[in-house]
Amino acid sequence: MYIEGAMQLQENASLAALTTFKIGGPARFLVEARSLNDVEQAVTFAQSRNLDLFVLGGGSNLLVSDSGWPGLVLKIAINGIERTPGERDGKVLFDVGAGESWDRFVSHAVAADCAGVECLSGIPGSVGGTPVQNVGAYGQEVSETITSVTVFDREGGQVRELCAEACGFDYRSSIFNTTERGRFIILRVNFAVQPGGEPHLEYADLKRHFEGRETRPNLAETREAVRYIRGGKGMLIVEGDPDSCSAGSFFKNPVLNEAEHRDLEKRAAAKALSVPSYPALAQHKKVSAAWLVEKSGFGRGYSSGHVGISTKHTLAIVNRGGATAAEVLEFKDQIQQRVEEIWGVRLDPEPVFVGI
Ligand SMILES: Cc1cc2nc3c(=O)[nH]c(=O)nc-3n(C[C@H](O)[C@H](O)[C@H](O)COP(=O)(O)OP(=O)(O)OC[C@H]3O[C@@H](n4cnc5c(N)ncnc54)[C@H](O)[C@@H]3O)c2cc1C
Repeated sequence: MYIEGAMQLQENASLAALTTFKIGGPARFLVEARSLNDVEQAVTFAQSRNLDLFVLGGGSNLLVSDSGWPGLVLKIAINGIERTPGERDGKVLFDVGAGESWDRFVSHAVAADCAGVECLSGIPGSVGGTPVQNVGAYGQEVSETITSVTVFDREGGQVRELCAEACGFDYRSSIFNTTERGRFIILRVNFAVQPGGEPHLEYADLKRHFEGRETRPNLAETREAVRYIRGGKGMLIVEGDPDSCSAGSFFKNPVLNEAEHRDLEKRAAAKALSVPSYPALAQHKKVSAAWLVEKSGFGRGYSSGHVGISTKHTLAIVNRGGATAAEVLEFKDQIQQRVEEIWGVRLDPEPVFVGI
């Protein structure tokens, strides 16, 4: 490591170690930013050397190329969970550093008896990573509680505050991963959560978990239930669980129009199958990507060299040890091709490809 001004730069730093997939080559330069000042210095350094800049959070939604990243990787490590004085429509406000662990913030909100993020318990990664693809699980999306996002705008070189509407949140998307990709470095995220609020218990798995109970579960019990259910699906990062060596769900649930949906139903009927429909999917006119993958011959535990399908969840591609990004991409192509041939539906990957 060497120090350039006050900024600490590492050269040829392993990126595999900074991702949940444990795949990928080195970064030419790596900077860990603990403050706005660090961010500004890193951006200036990258500009002065004409280096491409990639912003890294917790590395839980990434597939990094085997050759790594030839420019500068800026790891956001701005911490702090602060309660903002005042309230908004009876809700408590939190201002959270982008580098905080997301699950730590959820735990903090639940301990303060505030509802709104309890179903998002156990999602790995940083707070700053959550608005990027508008993370969601068990019937909640992070956009429901975000009031604004504080960013460093690389175009104007200034700090700005973007209100929730300006973030353009949608299913697994926002301006940060679509129209304005690469422009904003998220520094802090502001949330409004409901003190004394009821947990959100709409999702089938959660309802089943509490079946037969006479009293309504509280927020802490809901958080524990979500973590428990996620653990059973390999969707919680657990040291030593080979099924959590992944980037989570590898494919998004496809959104079909009516004609496409009718075609899919016809293909299913010809195989004496019916396309599953759950309220959570129907709401967004989505089809289960997990069902399409499984019914194309890629069941849980399927293996192909060093990669395969998780033994606990059909949508997670896992690194079974020593996998390369090239192997993951080849496996992804196989799945996409087979699903398209059989079902006429193109699956889009969810993780961000870095240097690929
Ligand atoms: C086991 C497992 C389970 C998962 N379950 C879910 C789930 O239930 N629901 C869900 O939606 N996702 C899930 N994910 C995916 C992932 O955890 C989330 O997308 C998470 O929010 C990514 O955050 P991160 O900090 O790890 O971002 P990274 O993976 O580091 O980065 C992802 C993208 O966000 C950008 N980014 C990150 N931080 C910043 C920042 N501060 N400023 C600007 N851009 C930034 C990066 O440039 C990149 O484009 C899961 C992943 C795993 C491994």
